Amino acid sequence: MTSPVWHPFTQHGLGEPIPEVVRTEGAALHTRDGGRFVDAISSWWVTTHGHCHPRIMAAIAEQAARMDQIIFAGWTHEPAETLARELVRILPDPLQHVFYSDSGSTSVEVALKMALGFWDNRGEPRNRIVVLEHGYHGDTIGGMSVGARGVFNRPYQPLLFDVSTIPFPEPGQSQATLDALEAQCREKPAALLVEPLVLGAGGMKFYSASLLAEMRKICTAHGVLFIADEVMTGWGRTGTLLACERAGVVPDILCLSKGLTGGAIPLAVTMATAPIFEAHYSDDRARMFFHSSSYTANPIACAAANANLAIWREEPVLERIADLGDRQQDRLDRLATHPLIRNPRRLGTIVAAEIGASQSAYLNSVGPRLKAFAHERGVLIRPLGNTVYVMPPYCIEDADLDAVYAAITDFLEREPRMGDLFAF
Ligand SMILES: *Cc1c(COP(=O)(O)O)cnc(C)c1O
Repeated sequence: MTSPVWHPFTQHGLGEPIPEVVRTEGAALHTRDGGRFVDAISSWWVTTHGHCHPRIMAAIAEQAARMDQIIFAGWTHEPAETLARELVRILPDPLQHVFYSDSGSTSVEVALKMALGFWDNRGEPRNRIVVLEHGYHGDTIGGMSVGARGVFNRPYQPLLFDVSTIPFPEPGQSQATLDALEAQCREKPAALLVEPLVLGAGGMKFYSASLLAEMRKICTAHGVLFIADEVMTGWGRTGTLLACERAGVVPDILCLSKGLTGGAIPLAVTMATAPIFEAHYSDDRARMFFHSSSYTANPIACAAANANLAIWREEPVLERIADLGDRQQDRLDRLATHPLIRNPRRLGTIVAAEIGASQSAYLNSVGPRLKAFAHERGVLIRPLGNTVYVMPPYCIEDADLDAVYAAITDFLEREPRMGDLFAF
């Protein structure tokens, strides 16, 4: 019998096999039929330290024995209080308030509502959001509205709200991005929303820390709120705890999810500076922040996040990340000598390159073919069109990393329809 499960971002009509995972450990997924797969993409960017981290799983079990979900409107619990205090302690001083939700998309929706609420409560309503070209902020209607438009959201376009898009800073073109931002800021938008340093789903596109710092400066000069979506870049992905840290930038509003629980269980936070909170602070109920989801601040998820923060506090996580970066670089240097590899690049633990053509194209057939080829070799990768990337859990061992790069290299060497790589 066929499964009733309708999978995300999956074309069931292609009849591709859907492996069943029964156990995870470190950088590996184990399937029901005895297969072992190296998770080279951290299960879509969520797993940081490694799958089934013993400290995180133990914290979940302990918390689950004590308390399940409780209402969080006007009520509280220790795991959420501890986590919020600890986030405020480790992140830059201006980020003083922590609002809980349950996914990256929701954390962005919350950020947008906070920004509009801020302006409205100040009696100066503003509703335009400025975004960076090729951005991705989730698949809800709001998330799609502030993200790149394309094949992913074409049918829904009539429902998406208008935003102002500034050009992505391709190499040598940063000034055009800054000029466009400056021009937009003069129109008094509510906020600029960006993925700092790396545009993930948009094709693992990198831009410089100095440009991020310049964008922040322009927003500050014009009094436009600066929202950083660190849902993917947070928790060490780019080599520092936050990508903003590399640019010395502190956002007004910060979105975190994915690695917040080490990737074990869903949780998100939207952090805000005092002025954002204070704009909603009043004895007037009409000015409170009108947002909640049923599973806000789930105690079990908060306990997992507290265990993640304990790992960051007590273990040499940044050294592990730096070491993974070096180990990735060695392998990238070798891969980069292949004539079909374009724009080889690395930031922290993330390695990416285009195959065949220097432009990336999402529906390019190289992606599915490379994915299937790697699957046969026990490697889970999921290229974005002809953009291949490797973003493993921080615990990955050399032999597994070698298997990942060997799968890519062998594909380039042996893929029979290599001629197609140039034809699109
Ligand atoms: C994954 C992602 C999101 C959406 O997160 P979900 O948990 O999938 O809703 C938002 N922003 C960025 C930058 C992401 O990478």
